[in-house]
Amino acid sequence: MKYCLNCDWSTSATDEPSASVRSRAAIAHHVETGHTIDSSEGVVPPRIPDLPDAVFVGDLLPSSD
Ligand SMILES: [Zn+2]
Repeated sequence: MKYCLNCDWSTSATDEPSASVRSRAAIAHHVETGHTIDSSEGVVPPRIPDLPDAVFVGDLLPSSD
């Protein structure tokens, strides 16, 4: 599917079976609104994993040996 990062606009194979039509619709939305369109292979927008901060901190710290 393609979806807008600025509003709730989106289009997917469920709405429009033609990928080229979806692409044109996404470009049209961008041109008309200036919004940013992103796309994903799935049918819903991807979610950032809800990981605890400690995971990221641990990855950034140098090893202590
Ligand atoms: Zn939009």
